Amino acid sequence: MGMYNILLLDQVEGCPQCGLGKTRYVQFGFGALALKEYRVGDDLEWGSLDRGEPGLRHVAVFGTGLNCVDCDYGCDDDFRIDVKSDVIVSAVVDDGTLDYLSQGHHYWLVLER
Ligand SMILES: [Zn+2]
Repeated sequence: MGMYNILLLDQVEGCPQCGLGKTRYVQFGFGALALKEYRVGDDLEWGSLDRGEPGLRHVAVFGTGLNCVDCDYGCDDDFRIDVKSDVIVSAVVDDGTLDYLSQGHHYWLVLER
């Protein structure tokens, strides 16, 4: 997806292969695309190379899990990142129920304006 951002996601269970890797790295394309690292609770930045729209009440953003940084174990989990008023409020493994392409743009879905 070209430029993107990263969400660092702390998880209780480590990587299934090496047991380390308690931080999951999830790539997403929303906000100013600046290879910036975020955590849940952070405000999204805007202002250059923006993708999406700032200030929406509730958006679901599709994220792609990256390989374990300790052992490179392949992760094929997709994530659902919920953003409310430009704050990342949660991220969970996506359950496949949202159609991220249904609003005509890639990988983010307005749930409430
Ligand atoms: Zn690992």
